[in-house]
Amino acid sequence: MPPRRLRLHTPGHGPILDALILYGLIEGVVVADPYAEVEVRPYSWAYEIEVETDAGGAEVGRAAAETLLSDLMVVEVLSPGNEITLELSELSKFVKANLPQRSQLGTFLRRMKEAADQVAQGLFDPFKEYSDVEHALNRKEGRGSKKGKLTAHIPISGIYGKYVGSSFKAEAKGYHLCPLCSTLAWVGMVNYVPILSYFGKGETSVTYIVPQPTIPVEDVTALLALKDVADTRRMERVLPRLRNVKVPAIAAPLVVLAVGETTAALSDVGLIATVYEYGRAGGGYGVRTYGSVPLDRLLRFIEAAKLRSDKLTRLIQALIRTEEVGALAVLAETVAFGGLERAYGALRTLRAALWQAERRDEEVRNAEVLLDEQLVEAILETTYT
Ligand SMILES: [Zn+2]
Repeated sequence: MPPRRLRLHTPGHGPILDALILYGLIEGVVVADPYAEVEVRPYSWAYEIEVETDAGGAEVGRAAAETLLSDLMVVEVLSPGNEITLELSELSKFVKANLPQRSQLGTFLRRMKEAADQVAQGLFDPFKEYSDVEHALNRKEGRGSKKGKLTAHIPISGIYGKYVGSSFKAEAKGYHLCPLCSTLAWVGMVNYVPILSYFGKGETSVTYIVPQPTIPVEDVTALLALKDVADTRRMERVLPRLRNVKVPAIAAPLVVLAVGETTAALSDVGLIATVYEYGRAGGGYGVRTYGSVPLDRLLRFIEAAKLRSDKLTRLIQALIRTEEVGALAVLAETVAFGGLERAYGALRTLRAALWQAERRDEEVRNAEVLLDEQLVEAILETTYT
């Protein structure tokens, strides 16, 4: 039988959710059929996905759901009572992404597992569901009844909290997703989204960096490079102090991309990252920062820097170690948005920060050599092209 060619649409739940569902779907397709051809075309808030594959929809759903189930399994095995500890967040990305609301995580985790089980059993066929542009309407998703659905919490939506503001009051009315959308969005989060977590005095927060393609992607293997960047365990090995240092949202994409393995192909798909920080301090939860950072220039800089110099990762390590994160933000802004004048200012800020770093931490020696001539060239080149 020749492979089937299908045209699918993400449901239009919002820019972040649709990107996550796109990644969840890609994951299912490439795991179920490594020879599949997948093309992605962004439009408005959603994506059109063209798939040529031998695999069936149920099989794709199962392959995707199993990646989430294996992440959730960690909790089941290590904490049968669903008690969510910080140690679990080292092993489960799902737990890590939900840390600000961890006291309510037990129930949600159980529901999530049920939903992913349903998808793994083939009860939802993503090919059938997403061939219909009215999927969200048919499944009665959104601010309506919750029956048989799951809430799209802030980690995967960025914007939809549990409350809706109406005249003079806020109502508890979550945005609800069907088990398939919910499962795929979490598959996308677990496998494709880098996150940074921060544990300060009385404060826990997580910063999510959700890359979104803005131009057509003919060969989806470019996007698979995001999986290396999303490996938070590896990132924490390279940057062990990361959990205790609050990285400014603008610098978060630079930190995760510079430390991960990125490929040149990734800078060709017009990625823009939506970055949002969700945190808890005292009894209050909330989204603290929400913004977007274009990634193409940033990726070109990292590529140029790594090609010429071996200092970029060490520079980032030193700035994080000594909490000189302001300089990191200036560097990130400069290489993401360009402008030669800004670049000279950034170089001055970096030199001053390294000088401080050396005095503050005796393990950071000869800090000024970290900003070597080749790295300076890479910064200047990126900002004037
Ligand atoms: Zn759905």
